Parts: sequence; C-alpha cells; structure tokens
Amino acid sequence: MHIVLISTPIGFLSSGKGGGVELTLNSLVTGLLKKGHKVDVVAPKNSKLKDASGNAKLYHVEGEEQKSWQHQDFYSLVTIPDNSLLSGMIEKAIAIGKNADIILNLSYDWLPIWMTLNIDIPIAHIISMGSESFVISNLISNVHSKYPYNFAFHSKIQALDYPFIKNPIIIGNGFQLGNYEFQDCKNGPLGWVGRVAPEKGLEDAAYVANALGEKLKVWGIVQDESYALKIEKMFSPGILEWKGFLETEELQKELGTCRALLNTPKWNEAYGNVVVEALACGVPVVAYKRGGPSEIIEHGKTGYLAKPDDKESLLGYLKIINKIERKSCREWVENNASTNIFANNVVHWLSKIIEEKQVQNST
Ligand code: UDP
Repeated sequence: MHIVLISTPIGFLSSGKGGGVELTLNSLVTGLLKKGHKVDVVAPKNSKLKDASGNAKLYHVEGEEQKSWQHQDFYSLVTIPDNSLLSGMIEKAIAIGKNADIILNLSYDWLPIWMTLNIDIPIAHIISMGSESFVISNLISNVHSKYPYNFAFHSKIQALDYPFIKNPIIIGNGFQLGNYEFQDCKNGPLGWVGRVAPEKGLEDAAYVANALGEKLKVWGIVQDESYALKIEKMFSPGILEWKGFLETEELQKELGTCRALLNTPKWNEAYGNVVVEALACGVPVVAYKRGGPSEIIEHGKTGYLAKPDDKESLLGYLKIINKIERKSCREWVENNASTNIFANNVVHWLSKIIEEKQVQNST
C-alpha cells in the first residue's frame, strides 16, 4: 500500500504539543514500513520523525496552527486561520496522494473529515479524542453514514462518545518495545506523565503524593502555565518535582524507576499512551476507572482502577501497589500493544476502506 499520512495541526512532531498523536504516528509509520508499505508523512515545519519512521518521506508544511479542541468550548464554531497549516497539509496530501492508495488523517479537526465527501482518493481517520466538539461530532455522524468504514478509534470506551456508530472499528495503539527497558524497582518514587493541562487532573495525583508525604515526579510539557501555577500553590513546596518534557529514551529510563504511575484524567481519555509506556517499563499504574486507561489496566494484575475523582480510592490502591507483579505489566504490552499488532490492525482496516471505495467507484 502507498499511504499518505496527515499529522496533527497543533504542533510540529517532537514538540510535545501534539500529545500522544506524535508517538502514535512514529510507531505506526515504523510498523507500516517494516511491513513493506510505502509511507509519506505530511507534517508541520520543523517536524522530525523518530527511529525507523525516519525512512518515510517527510513533507514539511508552513502555516498557522489550529487551536486544540479540548481547550475550546464544546459548542465553539470551527475556525480556520489565515495561512492555515491544516489546509496546507491537506492540499499537500492530496497533491502527493494522487498516486497513493489512501490518505490517513491523524488530525482531530473538521476540514480533513469534510474532505472525505469531496475527493476521489479515500481518506481514513484515526480519531484521537473523545467527543470534544459539537460540530465535529455531527460531521463525523454525517460522513460516517456515507463512509462507515473510514473512522477508527483507539479504544471501545472512547468510541462510546460517538453513539451513532454502532460497531466502531477499534485499532488500539502501538509501542516500540525496544525503546522501553524493563526495570524491577519496587521502592522507587511516584510518577505522573502528561501534558500539564486541566483535563489531565494533575492536582489529584499531587494530593495523593502529599498525603503520603512524598514527592511526585512530573514529566511533560506545561501547556497551561496558570494551571501549573495553581497546582503548585495548592501543596507544600517540593511535593511537585517538575521534570520537564523528555524524549522517550530519557523518559523511559526515569519512569522505569518509579514504583507506580498515577494517571488521573478528568476527561474521557481516548487511549492513554503514558499508561502503556509505564507498563512497558514494568511500572504498575493506578488510574481512575474512566476512558482508555480503564480498558488497558487489568485491575489487580497490572495496576488498579480507582473510583473516578475519588482521591482516597487512589490512595488506598497506592498503598497496596507492591502486590502487582511488575513482569505482568511488561507482558501486557508485549501481548496487546506492540507496533506490529497496531500496524496489522491499521492495515486490515485500510484495506477494507480501499476495497469499499473501489466497489463504489465501479457502480
Ligand atoms: N511525553 C513525552 N515526554 C514527556 C512526557 C510525555 O514524550 O516528558 C509523551 C508521551 O510519550 C505520550 C504523550 O506525551 O506519547 C502523551 O500522550 P497521552 O496519550 O498520554 O495523552 P494526550 O497528550 O494525547 O492527551
């Protein structure tokens, strides 16, 4: 297959602004190339591809970034800035996609989804968030009624945000296991990883660390400065240890020393890459029973699922975290979320869309 991939219009690849989509894209491209497919990537200027994904052809596009949907009101109208990066990326993808089999869109936005109705080449969409916009959800509903195979989701629980899709296509996510080293550190610190932004609920994890009189190591890009400052002020100095945004190689080395990862999102997390990255290092996870993490974590085997928004429930499970066999955490990733498994799921899905489009074109 020849696949043209459209990246996120929120930030350049390796900036951290695109969140989990950045890692998903690198891992998917690596998996597709390994299977012998041809992949072109259209991404914002300054983007870099990592590991073996660097062998894909990368096209840089300049322009004004989109505002992330999770930081807008649900009923906001769609805005497309002058010199739009997103429309530039779509234009580029269509130009190079003329001879390709399919365009694969990873941006959660209106324009690429609407394009599905208006060009001959099929466009597939990996929906990377729950329902964060009224207009986008309605558009997905509309396009889905004509192109039922063109949307895929990371988890079943994410797809529930789109109830008009009765049998959603679930593709999971993939991680390059060679990038994560298993560490057997039962007495390490507590960790938290993610974009520092309100939907990620860092304050609840800090509450737990504070209650235990321990530091909480925090890795990730500070996307909302005022939110970070507010949390800093809520707790005694030194409870939050800000570690900044690290590349995967460094992140996994440090994360692997933790005795547990706390994962406390307030929204319906589509998947939760950081949960799987912790598990890949052998770190059990205590998370709220909500969104993607509740589908990933096996309660009592690879971590614990606490009652949503109940900090005491988190605390209770942290106290028994050493009951978890760290090897089981790593094993779960090997058996469920490798690059190979993910690429297979995506190839299977894309083949179906191409087939359907051929049938439509011939009738
Ligand atoms: N991440 C990283 N370095 C850091 C902290 C986070 O590379 O120091 C990456 C992490 O590997 C993950 C992403 O940020 O892929 C966060 O993705 P997740 O799915 O957990 O949440 P999202 O940001 O997409 O909501």
